[in-house]
Amino acid sequence: MNIHEYQAKERFRAAGIPVPPGDVARTPEEAEALARTYGGNVVVKAQVHSGGRGKAGGVKLARTPEEAREHAAAILGMQIKGLTVEKVLVTPAEEIATEAYVGVLMDRSAQAPTFMVSAEGGMDIEAVAATKPEAIRKLTVDPRYGLLPHQAYWLANYLYDDPAIVKQAARVVGQLYRAFVDSGASMAEINPLITTPAGEVKAIDAKMTIDDSELFRRTEVAGMRDSSDEPWAETRAREAGLSFVKLDGDVGCCVNGAGLAMATMDLVKYYGGEPANFLDIGGSSNPEKVVAALEIITQDPAVKVILFNIFGGITRCDDVANGIVEATKRIDIDLPIVIRLTGTNEDVALEILENAGFSAFTSMDEVVRKAVETANAEA
Ligand code: GDP
Ligand code: MN
Repeated sequence: MNIHEYQAKERFRAAGIPVPPGDVARTPEEAEALARTYGGNVVVKAQVHSGGRGKAGGVKLARTPEEAREHAAAILGMQIKGLTVEKVLVTPAEEIATEAYVGVLMDRSAQAPTFMVSAEGGMDIEAVAATKPEAIRKLTVDPRYGLLPHQAYWLANYLYDDPAIVKQAARVVGQLYRAFVDSGASMAEINPLITTPAGEVKAIDAKMTIDDSELFRRTEVAGMRDSSDEPWAETRAREAGLSFVKLDGDVGCCVNGAGLAMATMDLVKYYGGEPANFLDIGGSSNPEKVVAALEIITQDPAVKVILFNIFGGITRCDDVANGIVEATKRIDIDLPIVIRLTGTNEDVALEILENAGFSAFTSMDEVVRKAVETANAEA
C-alpha cells in the first residue's frame, strides 16, 4: 500500500526526523489560508501516489498566499502518471544548500532491509542510479541487530564532509530505519534530504510503501489508505476478499487456490497464451466472490476470454456453478467463458451449467488449450 507524502511525513515526524510543518488543502482557498498561516513563502505540492511530481509541474514555490492559491488551482485536478490530484500539501519553503538521497527498502535478494544513499539527490536520482551507480552507497542491515550507530555514520559520512552535518544526518538515517520498521514499510525514502545555508539537515520530501501483510496489526497505518488513488480493480478485489494481480495478457483467469492459480497461469503460457491476471477466489464458493471476480476481469479491455478453473474440495462445485450463473445474470458479459470444474458435487455443477447454456470441462489440460485457442482466434 502506498501512502501520501503528507502521511509519510507524519510517520517521519513521529520518529523524530526534522520535517518542516505542513497541512493538506483540497481547494485553492484552503491553500491560500494555509499559506497565510505559514507567512506566504510556501511550496504547494500535489499529493498523489507517484514520484516525479516536480518534473510533472506538481511542485510549485509561492512567494505570497495569493500565488499559493493560483498554484493550488493549477495543481488540483492535474493528472500525474494517470492519477488525478485531489489534495495538495502546503508547507513552508526551505532554503536549500544541498540535496541528498536517503532510502531504505526491503531487498528480496539480500532478504534484509537495504539502505541506499547518494549526495546527488533531488529530481534526477533515477538517472544517477542508471548512469552513475558508483555515486550511491549501499548497506544491508542485519534485522536481528537493526541499524547500528557506526553504520548510520558510515552512510552519513558518504554524504557530507562537515562533522556537524554528518552527525545530524546519521541521526536522521537511524530515525528513518525506525520509521521504516515501525510502519511495516517495504520502502521508505527521503529525496531530497536537504541541508540549509544555516547548516541544518531536513527532510522535505517523504515517500513510503507499506507491506500489505503488515496492515492487520497496524490499524493506524492501515487507516492511511487512499482508495481514490488505487486502481479500481485492486480496491474491488480487496473489498471482496480476492487475491488479484493484474498482468499483461488476454486470458482472464478465475481460479480457486493460489497454487492452482499459478499452475493455471503456467499452463496458459505453455500453450502459447498470456494470462491477463492472477486471481484467487479463495476457498469459499460465495457467489458474491464470483460476481466480483467477473466484474474485475471484464473491466480489463485486454481480456479476450474468461477461464474458470475450479477444484472442488471444501469448495462445492455446484456453489461455484450457481455463482457463475448468478454473476452472468447480473453483469453483461460479451466475452467467451470457458469453465473447468472438478471435485465435490461436480455432476450437479455440470448440470447447472449445461442448463444455463454453458459447456464445461473436467480436464484442466483441455480447458486451458480451449481458452488459449479462443484468445488467439480473437486476436
Ligand atoms: P518529487 O519531484 O515528487 O520528488 O517532489 P519533491 O518534493 O522532491 O520536490 C521536487 C523538487 O522541488 C526538490 O528536489 C526541490 O529541488 C524542489 N523543492 C521542494 N520543496 C522545496 C522547498 O521547500 N524549497 C525549495 N527551494 N525547493 C523545493
Ligand atoms: Mn522527491
